[in-house]
Amino acid sequence: MTTHLPGPFSLVPFVSVDDMMKLVIDIGVEQMLSELADEIETDFRRWELFDKTPRVAAHSEQGVIELMPTSDGEAYGFKYVNGHPGNTHSGRQTVTAFGVLADVANGYPLLLSEMTLLTALRTAATSAMVAKHLMPKGAKTMAMIGNGAQSEFQSLAFKAVCGITRVQMYDIDAKATAKAVKNLNDSGLEVVACKTPEEAVQGAEIITTCTADKQYATILSDNMVGSGVHINAIGGDCPGKTELHRDILLRSDIFVEFPEQTRIEGEIQQLDPDHPVTEMWQVINGQAAGRTSDRQITLFDSVGFATEDFSALRYVREQLKTRPYFTNLDLLADPDDPRDLFGMVMRKQAKMAAE
Ligand code: NAD
Repeated sequence: MTTHLPGPFSLVPFVSVDDMMKLVIDIGVEQMLSELADEIETDFRRWELFDKTPRVAAHSEQGVIELMPTSDGEAYGFKYVNGHPGNTHSGRQTVTAFGVLADVANGYPLLLSEMTLLTALRTAATSAMVAKHLMPKGAKTMAMIGNGAQSEFQSLAFKAVCGITRVQMYDIDAKATAKAVKNLNDSGLEVVACKTPEEAVQGAEIITTCTADKQYATILSDNMVGSGVHINAIGGDCPGKTELHRDILLRSDIFVEFPEQTRIEGEIQQLDPDHPVTEMWQVINGQAAGRTSDRQITLFDSVGFATEDFSALRYVREQLKTRPYFTNLDLLADPDDPRDLFGMVMRKQAKMAAE
């Protein structure tokens, strides 16, 4: 089935939540996670090309609203995203998002998309792509602490990209764990519900923390982390919101996306501002060491960076060339004479009066 995206002068393709679900189902969730991981890795390889800035955050007592812009000089993308840990109590998502991709040459939007699902997919794809470079060889078991909206995506990305076969799940809310276990029932993963975080990390070579709480939390304490593991820390992504005890950070080699943003938002906000960290793009390009020993603790201090959303938006737009999961939005004024914007309104008025 071939569809044609609208030309730059007319309509803007819009991917709704319903369209995104159809896209995920059509491609297959694991296939899409793998392809997204490849896209994100490709853009990490050309890291230096991108315009990079820490995201612009508006904090409140309840949460944060953020704008995440970047550009590779040809396309420009931004995401609007919130993080409100109390939202699930009123039936809302902790994280929702939408984003835009635009043509740098003329500034016209090329795509408007929901990004709540796409954020879960790209976050999981990024985590797994990074783990592929850092995890101990042959890792098969992951502890998944925090079994909310992101957790199934994380588990499936680690299966598809890293080859894990078993997930040990824990959440302070047993209902969240039961939901995740049920959702992953037919995934081909061996999924185990755990009663304590200690039980979840037992025997796991990879530990993912993905909880939501607007405080300095201690999801993992030092004695829970044995040598040689890879920690994928997702939930500490805001000033005043962390998941790991500081002592774990001091025992780990820490890998980050964009240090300027991670020092504000990540686990490393607990450390001195000059504490050494390694940028993931350098590991991926072979310019910095990743895992160098079996006993080393590697920590991906993930906060989510704009290039990952950019890669995901470009991937989605590419898919729309052959998959019809969008509607065309009348988002841009297109007067016959570009300078006659007012005349366009007058012509509309005359037409409405004649009807
Ligand atoms: P969610 O609210 O759907 O799920 C969070 C889960 O954490 C809930 O089930 C909650 O019960 C559990 N939890 C809270 N405290 C806990 C504790 N002490 N021990 C165990 N479980 C606990 O949220 P979500 O959408 O899954 O997001 C999770 C976190 O990931 C959020 O903090 C969000 O900001 C962050 N996030 C990060 C990125 C990134 O790129 N790094 C991207 C998306 C989301």
